Amino acid sequence: MPKVEAAPQVAEPFPLSTLRHSVSHLMASAVAKLYPGVQFGFGPAIEHGFYYDFDLEQPLSEPDLRRIEKEMERIAKRSPRMECVEVDREEAKRRLRAAGQTYKVEAVDSIPEGEPITFYRHGDWEDLCEGPHVDRLDRDFHFKLLNVAGAYWRGDETRPMLQRVYGTAFWRREDLDAHLAWLEEVVQRDHRKLGSELDLFSTHGEVGGGFIFWHPNLASLRRALEEFWWDEHTRAGYRPVYTPHVARETLFEVSGHLQNYAELMYAPMEIEEQPYRVKPMNCPGHILIYKSRGRSYRELPLRWAELGTVYRYERSGVLHGMLRVRGFTQDDAHIFCTPEQLADEIAGVCELIHKVLTTFGFRYTAYLATRPAENAIGSDEVWAMATDALRRAAAMRGMALELDEGGGAFYGPKIDFKIKDALGREWQLPTVQCDFNLPERFDLAYTDADGRAKRPIMVHRAVLGSMERFVGTLIEHFGGRFPFWCAPVQAALIPIREEHAAYCRELEARLQAELFRVEALLAPGHMNNKIKEAQRQRIPFMLVAGGREAEEGTVAVRRRDTREQEVMPFEAFLDLARRLRTSRSLELA
Ligand SMILES: [Zn+2]
Ligand SMILES: [Zn+2]
Repeated sequence: MPKVEAAPQVAEPFPLSTLRHSVSHLMASAVAKLYPGVQFGFGPAIEHGFYYDFDLEQPLSEPDLRRIEKEMERIAKRSPRMECVEVDREEAKRRLRAAGQTYKVEAVDSIPEGEPITFYRHGDWEDLCEGPHVDRLDRDFHFKLLNVAGAYWRGDETRPMLQRVYGTAFWRREDLDAHLAWLEEVVQRDHRKLGSELDLFSTHGEVGGGFIFWHPNLASLRRALEEFWWDEHTRAGYRPVYTPHVARETLFEVSGHLQNYAELMYAPMEIEEQPYRVKPMNCPGHILIYKSRGRSYRELPLRWAELGTVYRYERSGVLHGMLRVRGFTQDDAHIFCTPEQLADEIAGVCELIHKVLTTFGFRYTAYLATRPAENAIGSDEVWAMATDALRRAAAMRGMALELDEGGGAFYGPKIDFKIKDALGREWQLPTVQCDFNLPERFDLAYTDADGRAKRPIMVHRAVLGSMERFVGTLIEHFGGRFPFWCAPVQAALIPIREEHAAYCRELEARLQAELFRVEALLAPGHMNNKIKEAQRQRIPFMLVAGGREAEEGTVAVRRRDTREQEVMPFEAFLDLARRLRTSRSLELA
């Protein structure tokens, strides 16, 4: 056998993060040159590039970024060498004061005593920085400045707002191009952009930020998801429960939410001189059902599920479309079980999560989060038992676990799932958590085979996380091209000419009778425009019908992504539609 040689690798002279941080210096030096009097904040490398914060009166615009890029290129050619000088604290402050850099003077104070203080210089520009950097700025690399955003100095809302210029850099031109194409795709798929383009959802100033209004299109998709969700939960032995949105404050004292999560909760309202709160979590409600009567070991495990809407305070500055909101519906369920049942129950949850995530084509990584170093409640034995149950459950399913040492909640260990979307971005959505705390606080019990009262274990778990966040993620994952089974409108009926409307109406009625979501486009207008409109709305199928189709009982079927048209008996299309729906196929995703 010939020896297999590894593909030649172009060695990168410095790590990408070092390059990117160095380019942020280069950008700062260009800004200093073009905008005298500018003050500098911080300029680190970040996940996909770098940024630098500037205090500058004039707001930077797109043409400014191009101007800065040109200046960067000039400086890189003229003054390529990056040099490091070490100075003492006083000298550092003197230099920065002389340069008028007050933020940097403040930054010197946060360098711990005894650590070296260094400046990096290229040309006549220098910056307080610990490095590392590339040796020369005339090496072969490629960069682009991307956008400007506001950012508070040190992330503190009481401090000045600076201009943060984002950019990125790569060693190879093709990597930069691929990254820019990816960024463009991220913009095109932004769920807020698609949310208005496809008439999916809105928020309203009259109501306040962070509260989502689901328009008919997105509500139709949500109903399809909920049906899927309930189907899978019924198969997995869950029973539904419903609980109120408001409860007396004393409930949240017993649960501990008032002591530990008060900043997440909305202020109390008074009803008959008693304080009440809207719920931040569904757990206490499910616990009350558990406690409504005595429980025997014979009933366990109990698996109760609710699509429960909760309300939590988020600062207005962090609200973001459907991804960060103030009112949301958790796909919540709680399992009450014996310690012996725990591993099987967790394995069941992992199975369910796998089924749901793979239906949408998500890949995922599971992280086992173990006992935190401080403030954990519960004995060593109970932590070891539950952590072991989580491990065994993963092993039963053949699921690999990454370790998140000390990342568990104070009340128990958990497995968090990070999903990867179509653009390779990670989202944390599903979770399964053991809880030793709430059963204790609510004094939950069951009567065991030996007649003695024992404490059940409570498992909190979410498969989707919340409807809002999951669906927001889904919009971006599919770029609005949803699979047939959950598409807001599954088929558009398009008459070739006005006189074919009656046949289209007939087909529409037949499809609706089978509970398909369809729309006959019968308004006056050219067929081609209707096809274009249906494509713009990403409707999976267009059924075009004229005189011949009406006569023969057929339809000309066009798929969302192709130009070809296939004529088939209407019955054959019905079969296809039924099959795609029942199998919840990703076809036409
Ligand atoms: Zn630096
Ligand atoms: Zn819970």
